Amino acid sequence: MTVHRHIRILDPRLSNQIAAGEVVERPASVVKELVENAIDAGSERVEIELENGGTRLIRVRDDGGGIAEEELGLALSRHATSKIASLDDLEGVGSLGFRGEALASISSVSRLELISNIHDDPQWGWRVVAEGREMEPRLSPAPHPRGTSVTVRDLFFNTPARRKFLRTEKTEFGHVEEAFRRLALSRFDIGLTLRHQQKTLHQLRPGVDASARERRVSALLGSKFLDNALHLDMETGGMRLWGWVGLPTHSRAQADQQYFFVNRRVVRDRLVAHAIRQAYRDVLFHGRHPVFILYLELDPSVVDVNVHPTKHEVRFRDGRMVHDFLFSSLHRALGEARPAGDSVETP
Ligand code: ADP
Ligand code: MG
Repeated sequence: MTVHRHIRILDPRLSNQIAAGEVVERPASVVKELVENAIDAGSERVEIELENGGTRLIRVRDDGGGIAEEELGLALSRHATSKIASLDDLEGVGSLGFRGEALASISSVSRLELISNIHDDPQWGWRVVAEGREMEPRLSPAPHPRGTSVTVRDLFFNTPARRKFLRTEKTEFGHVEEAFRRLALSRFDIGLTLRHQQKTLHQLRPGVDASARERRVSALLGSKFLDNALHLDMETGGMRLWGWVGLPTHSRAQADQQYFFVNRRVVRDRLVAHAIRQAYRDVLFHGRHPVFILYLELDPSVVDVNVHPTKHEVRFRDGRMVHDFLFSSLHRALGEARPAGDSVETP
């Protein structure tokens, strides 16, 4: 269901209360922001296309609610958002975005074209183009099926200092793939396609039943992942934790397959990391890292996502309770997996 809310400039007092900062670091951050916008727009299918690791071109096409013609210019303005209007809205915010900064930031360091249509008539649609900081957005008609396509070309073309920090196209594409994995694991109900240099690398169909989920996990992390993982699903006091945790025998030298989502948002949190480490403490060798894909679901009003501009950090109202719930759920799941008296295996 797509609902239309008007885009407006946030009251300066409110925008000052929102964690601010640069979100455009590299192609992967652009992909993250654009796909999050597509998700917030209620899209069912999202297509991502890149050239040269995203340094030359990034295109994200969705079938969401679109942006009305008269709001296209506003969409590219700083602190313009349709997602919150007051501080109250920020409490328990359900959308991934709310700062109204991504499109403004991206368009200030690239050549950006956005085409959108809010109608079911595919003859309809408008294009807005912006290049760098100085440009006023220009509007022209452009047919597009209902939804939005954003094309970002020549990232950092006007900021050589930041372009210098880009790594090889291969490395940048690796970061994009990691961002894609996180997004794809966050929403099994959305179909996602990833193309690079005209080649389709991922075509993930939407599906939320157990087998569709497992198919997606295997496509993203390899078929071995689930062979060596336990499925868990636990609930207590309004909190639910579900997902997959790797068997201790399937640990890794690097912490590179660890995904933790809080209310469908990927999160890196010290408290969470600590609880997981504790649960694995007796079954993992020092220096080894568990693999996991975990989803924590809890009342949005007890989590604050307005901590950091990338929103990868959260603050729990009752951190102790969350920590204990995570620890005990994982400890139990891992304990059940181990036959009594079995000792820890050598890595
Ligand atoms: P935020 O997501 O924090 O609101 P953005 O700069 O990412 O800020 O986007 C600004 C506004 O433009 C959004 O609030 C939304 O109204 C609109 N918008 C951006 N991308 C899309 C999209 N793909 N589909 C529909 N609306 C969009
Ligand atoms: Mg956004």
